[in-house]
Amino acid sequence: MTHIITSLCLRENSCMDVCPVECINPGESAEWPTYYIDPATCIDCGACVPECPYHAIYPEDEVPSAYAAKGGELINQLGLNGHYESTNHRKENIVLETTRALNPGETVNLRDSVQANYNFYK
Ligand code: SF4
Repeated sequence: MTHIITSLCLRENSCMDVCPVECINPGESAEWPTYYIDPATCIDCGACVPECPYHAIYPEDEVPSAYAAKGGELINQLGLNGHYESTNHRKENIVLETTRALNPGETVNLRDSVQANYNFYK
């Protein structure tokens, strides 16, 4: 198994600093808007999960197919066109053009992120 960074990822970067096996890749292109975990290297320690301020990381088999939005959180996914700017925990700028704000009570299938993660490492 592996852990999966879902489309709730806004590239905040804290996860990379705690991963003991350095298996998180920041994507870093328009085609790959979130971060990705190498399934061949991840040891499923779970250290990255509490570090993410957006609660974007799950064990693969727990990635929700019907994530219930609190409202206001963003998803970051190819095909979306919302603009987002912030800084990560290292104070580096983040600019995204692939986001959308979720409505309260809206449900979103986050399992697309599982396949995206495996595609990244093909
Ligand atoms: Fe790294 Fe552990 Fe997260 Fe896997 S579960 S990506 S090994 S911190």
